Amino acid sequence: MHSLCDVLREALDSRSELIYFPFIMSQKQLKELPSVSEVLLECNVFKSLNNKYISFIIKSELEVYRRSAKKGALKIKRANITKNILYEIKRLMSPNMEYVINGTGIVLHTGLGRSPMKELTAKKVAKRVSGYTNLEFDLHTGARGQRQDHINVLLSSLTGAQSAMAVNNNAAAVLLSLNELSEGKEVIISRGQQVEIGGSFRIPDVIKKSGCILKEVGTTNRTHLKDYEKAFNKNTGLILWVHTSNYVVRGYTNQVHLSELVKLGQKKRVPVLADLGCGALYDLSDKGVPKDMLIQDVVKSGVGIVTFSGDKLLGGPQAGLIVGKKTLVNRLKKNPIARAVRCDKWGLAFLEDSLRSFRDDGPSKDNLTISLMTASRKSLTKRGETILSHLPKKTINKLGISLVESEVEAGSGSLPEEKLESMAFRFKPIGISPSTLSSKFRMSEIPVVGYIHSNIFYIDLKAVIPGQEKDLAGIISAIQ
Ligand SMILES: *Cc1c(COP(=O)(O)O)cnc(C)c1O
Repeated sequence: MHSLCDVLREALDSRSELIYFPFIMSQKQLKELPSVSEVLLECNVFKSLNNKYISFIIKSELEVYRRSAKKGALKIKRANITKNILYEIKRLMSPNMEYVINGTGIVLHTGLGRSPMKELTAKKVAKRVSGYTNLEFDLHTGARGQRQDHINVLLSSLTGAQSAMAVNNNAAAVLLSLNELSEGKEVIISRGQQVEIGGSFRIPDVIKKSGCILKEVGTTNRTHLKDYEKAFNKNTGLILWVHTSNYVVRGYTNQVHLSELVKLGQKKRVPVLADLGCGALYDLSDKGVPKDMLIQDVVKSGVGIVTFSGDKLLGGPQAGLIVGKKTLVNRLKKNPIARAVRCDKWGLAFLEDSLRSFRDDGPSKDNLTISLMTASRKSLTKRGETILSHLPKKTINKLGISLVESEVEAGSGSLPEEKLESMAFRFKPIGISPSTLSSKFRMSEIPVVGYIHSNIFYIDLKAVIPGQEKDLAGIISAIQ
């Protein structure tokens, strides 16, 4: 005598795709799931590694399969489930942050880590600081030293400021400066400069979070000196000027010049804080990089404090650089927030190295970011042709590759309107969509991040680091 269950099971086994019994289906599918220990047994290859971590991965992977089994939607065999989980473990056991080739053309790509550094520089710096280093120790006297001393003189002399310091990033530099110079007091800022940088950094919010009171003046497109003058009262603590680095207001506009704000500040005995954002030390317009405001010019205008990023146009590590009047910088150094946002030994060591790459006659070739930004179309064409020469004819034809002229942005909100000249590989493959091709490159052994424009996939050469040509050629050849 067959039980009803047996009958149903038989029916399911023979014609499972036609009969839909959700409950029995899901029971049957749940049985397909391997147990955690079963998968663990298969993990012998990873034995020496972290078992707790592996079990965690197995459990969370199994949970995904269990959810679809419960719905009766599991479409995979037990052996393949184990195989997939093993593949996932293998993937998660290798470092998550990996070597990526930047084919977006954007040199200062925040998603890809902003300014790149030479491997040799990294090695040199690692040798100096990976063990112990005189971070806060004066080797001459044997007494406690100051971590800011490693960069203070370099940064001051480069920018023409009296004093300098570095913190974690420019957002921290602005927060610290606002808090120290104007806590509990009003900060006057033009409505045309209430910038949002991205990643939730909005000037009005930062003013509030730093304990200051926002006093906005003027309009989005026009602000006059008299607007600032009228805003003063007994509780005014600071004039804030922000470089609208990532957008441009055009047409019927007016912003008050920094030097006029400085004069007004002097008259009212209130300091001026300038958030410059990108901050360049050189005019590189003859090398194809449009001119942005120079740090030394802003310092010269007489503002109290200037802040800017270490990993934008400077090409250094992530850092917020603060330069200005000695009395003010000294006050910032003593603020408790300075301790909360201080740089570690790595950041300071890389920063010192980048600052030393700036010579009187311009940045040295050691500054990789600036080298990439200033690379001419001619040199990029040469490198592109080298890569093409490493590709089999078959690959070039199959992927429809050609080397074309392109234009790219600097990135990170710097030089928003300006384009830099570049060269790019254009892909017109037969039978592969641009998004599939883009994903194939991202999932390559060395991930390559390109971009799609007007339904065509490109790999731009502007941010491909010299020395990566062979790797890139290898990856392109391996695309199936
Ligand atoms: C980029 C930028 C910031 C933020 O700098 P981070 O170094 O990314 O923290 C702040 N202000 C301006 C004007 C900027 O351009």
